[in-house]
Amino acid sequence: MSKKDDVIDDVNNDNIEKICYLCRRPESKTGKMIEIPNNITICSDCMQRTFDTISKGNNPYMKMMGFTPTKQGGPEKAKKEKKKEEEEELVFDREKLSAPHEIKGGLDEYVIGQEEAKIVVSVAVYNHYKRISSKNPLNVDIDKSNMLMIGPTGSGKTYLVKTLSKLLDVPLAITDATSLTEAGYIGDDVESVLSKLLQAAGNDVKKAEHGIVFIDEIDKIAKKQNTNSRDVSGESVQQGLLQLLEGSDVEVPVGATSKNAMVPMTTINTKNILFICGGAFPDLDKIIKARLNKQSSIGFKADLKDKHDDDTNIIQKVTVEDLREYGLIPEIIGRLPIVFTLEALTRDMLVEILLEPKNAILRQYQSLLAMDEVDLEFTQEALKVIAEKALEKKTGARALRAILEEFMLEIMYEIPKDDNIGKVTITKEYIEGNGVPLIQMRGSKSQGQISAEKKLSSKNQP
Ligand code: ADP
Repeated sequence: MSKKDDVIDDVNNDNIEKICYLCRRPESKTGKMIEIPNNITICSDCMQRTFDTISKGNNPYMKMMGFTPTKQGGPEKAKKEKKKEEEEELVFDREKLSAPHEIKGGLDEYVIGQEEAKIVVSVAVYNHYKRISSKNPLNVDIDKSNMLMIGPTGSGKTYLVKTLSKLLDVPLAITDATSLTEAGYIGDDVESVLSKLLQAAGNDVKKAEHGIVFIDEIDKIAKKQNTNSRDVSGESVQQGLLQLLEGSDVEVPVGATSKNAMVPMTTINTKNILFICGGAFPDLDKIIKARLNKQSSIGFKADLKDKHDDDTNIIQKVTVEDLREYGLIPEIIGRLPIVFTLEALTRDMLVEILLEPKNAILRQYQSLLAMDEVDLEFTQEALKVIAEKALEKKTGARALRAILEEFMLEIMYEIPKDDNIGKVTITKEYIEGNGVPLIQMRGSKSQGQISAEKKLSSKNQP
């Protein structure tokens, strides 16, 4: 017997206390119950909650009980509202949509290097929002521009997507594909990313439906290679993601990431959501190399068999077959038509990351010290040593902040002790642990080593 039948039996039997159909609390706890058709009883709290959400027009309980949501103010007003909603659907006015070079220009202010990736993303995003914003004169169905981004850890994948969503002013949800593994294909978990998106959109469904979802670590849900047993977990999460990627109506809880009786639900259509998947894909280079070497060992090119072994940019030669070999299922690959790579950051790029972006880490420290009216500078040599230390950690630009934090702690502690300090210069020797930072007192004319670093100071003038 189902739970529903249990409740109906209980209600029919006067000796048994009534239980709220929604929250399952007994009448002794909830106060007087409200009886509605089909022998269902509901406590006043749940009834209120239901009325609060019915105005959003999509409460499954009300539908279940035979109520059909109507807009307040009668059919005329409802019609008008519908028209207004349709107009609002064109959230992205083509006129207002930035051209690809403008989007790239915006990205350039924050993301260092990764030229190809920035161009690919700008064009894809432009086409995506064009696809959903304009009337299509030729009536051709334009495919979605979902993307797959391959790049080493800390090379700026997440940062690129975050910057993009800020520039476009669309909500963004970031999720980790590995967190979706445990629940497998039950679906709840895969859908939880849409709840996050809804939250990021301030519970505005229309806004969420034009947002961006970033699924990181997609390589971690690849099917295991070289095993005879089926790797159910990874593959099933890929299957679960399919329906989101291709566009479908998904029921998601509002204001929570899991479904339960107390949480109102709403429907999100994923057709116009831009999905970007990212991953480091370790060892993908080996697959590409093996393929290229196999090709070159055939026929006349046989003598060039090992010519790809020293190719550092081999990852850029990735093909759909390589991804399939890596363990992505063909359906997922088919729904991520735009594949591009990010390069590993070099020492010089790391130095630029410290200095150049609008919100560069050094600028942040400089602003903090500027509040105490103290100038902060770094010698170029010091910056190079910091970048080298970060390279050793093999976590890309992510290591920079941790390294700087370590050295800046002492400075941030000591400087406010003395009001006479006007300028601090961080030297290579200080970073290497065999020297101290140079301190210049206010009003002091001696410039010493500091004047040699005009580049940094002039760059950071507002
Ligand atoms: P991942 O590729 O692993 O997603 P992230 O995007 O999280 O790496 O990068 C970590 C941090 O490093 C970012 O928050 C950003 O501050 C910095 N960073 C990484 N790459 C770049 C880049 N190309 N330009 C500027 N900052 C970057």
